Amino acid sequence: MPRGIVAREFGGPGVLVAEDVPDREPGPAEVLVRVHAAGVNPADTYIRTGEYSFFKPSVPYTPGFDAAGVLEAVGSEVSNLQYGDRVFVAALGLASSGSYAQQVVCDAAAVHPLPDRLSFHQGAGLGIPWTTAYRALFQRGNLQPGETVLIHGASGGVGNPAVQLAIAAGATVIGTAGSEEGLELVRSLGAHHVLNHRSAGNLDSVPTLTGGRGIDLVVEMLASQNLEADAELLAPRGRIVVVGSRGSLTFTPRVLMVREADVRGTALWNMTPAERKQAQSAINQFSADTGPATATATVFPLDDAAKAHEHLMSQAALGKCLLDCT
Ligand code: NAP
Repeated sequence: MPRGIVAREFGGPGVLVAEDVPDREPGPAEVLVRVHAAGVNPADTYIRTGEYSFFKPSVPYTPGFDAAGVLEAVGSEVSNLQYGDRVFVAALGLASSGSYAQQVVCDAAAVHPLPDRLSFHQGAGLGIPWTTAYRALFQRGNLQPGETVLIHGASGGVGNPAVQLAIAAGATVIGTAGSEEGLELVRSLGAHHVLNHRSAGNLDSVPTLTGGRGIDLVVEMLASQNLEADAELLAPRGRIVVVGSRGSLTFTPRVLMVREADVRGTALWNMTPAERKQAQSAINQFSADTGPATATATVFPLDDAAKAHEHLMSQAALGKCLLDCT
């Protein structure tokens, strides 16, 4: 029998229990993927508590939206995918049985060809992180060639693809991380400048780095800490896209007024089908042609999903957090 993670109640990481689970069968519009690696995302940890505003599954459930592997069975109505295809799964907002398992059954629309040049580990990070990065930079942030973007939290799952997509779009990238290893990773992805968000005065050099103009776009992974400092760095009519935030802060709106600046939120759950299609097609094109760069990942065995959740919420990020499901 295949292994899978089952949560029988909401709560801390300890509710994630590895079990032998029954073999699955796809429905007519579904496929079954033999999972080699599953992506672990912060949203999975929020859902596990049962208090996430966007999604509350019924228990018992298997967590996870992202994966990569090989197609093992194809529903009778699916014509664009075949047995044996290498694929990645990006199932947020689409029906799926949960990717923290050796088998996942999902809507065929959630499954995309994985180019030969990408490993299963790279493929398992293509769903939520790449879609979020694309949406924040382009659909919400309206990034233009020649602009400067500050990716505040570039060392993690979303930050890594944001750096790569922004560079490919012709932007100058300033990326932040909170550890020496994270800074090195962000540098290796091609960021033009790197800053440590755990150092006092870490943003002091931004005016010099931008020739006094300021930042055109901030992609912010921890707005509850950084929003006002970000706003003070903006160029006239600059934008901040809030991707992540944990808590609240006091804020001086006048900082936005004098720059005619915008603060915009983003949440993947709000994407329209057309936006999803556009983002997915851009990501598929980028994966086939250019990247992603060799992925750095922190990998846990499937059975250690609870440890992966603890790690994700407590340790410095170094690329993508994954489960090896082989
Ligand atoms: P992750 O892999 O755990 O990375 C977290 C990132 O935040 C790391 O780069 C980390 O840097 C950085 N960070 C920590 N302290 C920071 C600070 N003071 N200032 C700036 N950055 C800081 O998580 P992820 O998958 O990249 O997700 C990042 C955030 O976006 C999470 O809050 C997640 O819930 C959210 N998210 C939102 C959406 C959406 O649709 N809105 C989608 C996906 C993710 P170091 O570890 O190097 O310090």
